[in-house]
Amino acid sequence: MPMMNFRFVQPAHLIDLNPVQELSFIHVDAKALSFGAMTRQRQIQNDPDVRQACPIILEALSHVGHRQTRARGTIGGSISHFDPSAELCNMAALHDAEVILARKGSQRTLTFDRFGIGYLTTAIEPDELLREVRLKRWPERHGYAFEEFAMRHGDFAICAVSCLLTLSRHGTVDDVAIAVSGVAPTPQRLKAFEISARGQAPGHDLYREAATQAAAIEATSDAYTTADYRRHLARILTYRAMQTAVARFNSQAK
Ligand SMILES: Cc1cc2nc3c(=O)[nH]c(=O)nc-3n(C[C@H](O)[C@H](O)[C@H](O)COP(=O)(O)OP(=O)(O)OC[C@H]3O[C@@H](n4cnc5c(N)ncnc54)[C@H](O)[C@@H]3O)c2cc1C
Repeated sequence: MPMMNFRFVQPAHLIDLNPVQELSFIHVDAKALSFGAMTRQRQIQNDPDVRQACPIILEALSHVGHRQTRARGTIGGSISHFDPSAELCNMAALHDAEVILARKGSQRTLTFDRFGIGYLTTAIEPDELLREVRLKRWPERHGYAFEEFAMRHGDFAICAVSCLLTLSRHGTVDDVAIAVSGVAPTPQRLKAFEISARGQAPGHDLYREAATQAAAIEATSDAYTTADYRRHLARILTYRAMQTAVARFNSQAK
């Protein structure tokens, strides 16, 4: 609706998915969290299984617009719109999401990095519909953090950084995922850092390494913010996200 309001899109037809009840569901199992495309953001925030399995998504959702917009906004709408700053696109990138696209008589599954093609552009074909979004589940005990900078609370982020992490019994990094959004046309994972961090001890040097990689993302400038400022935010927020994720992992019962 906002896109039509701005006259960015003037579709010949609109299809109302609200009556398609099969598109609204939440399913959490040992491997994944699955959401029907029409599941409201507020439903996700209120779901006890999601809260238990994936607390970071609640933290991210608290930055998506306002209570009123979350009551109507859907996970599928946000991901199909594919705004580079959308918190749910950040979550999908962070959790190595899979999306299921359906057309009459068939469906296909895409990894999220193949789904998002560019600025506000996805691989959804004109005769396809997003049916389901699946987020990979992390082990019960994991550290997490979501850091965002926006002009006002509820605005789209200028930069947001999320981090998931597990530590080994020796206290070194077992697994880490970091997603940076709002900086480039699509959410970016710090893949090279994620691989090199394994086996390293958390602390200032490691956080700084992550921050340096985040600041190296090819950032975009627009009427509101320069690329330099976006890179600066990516650096600071990545450092903080790692620090918080490690502290939270260590504060959880073994
Ligand atoms: C005041 C305000 C503040 C906001 N702040 C934020 C924010 O901070 N962060 C944020 O991420 N969002 C924000 N939003 C966006 C909002 O919260 C919604 O998530 C977003 O607009 C998607 O809305 P929707 O689910 O109604 O999808 P729609 O607006 O109905 O659809 C969005 C696009 O996706 C397509 N689409 C929808 N569903 C499907 C499907 N199943 N298959 C294929 N294509 C589909 C539609 O055709 C359309 O092109 C804000 C909105 C408002 C009004």
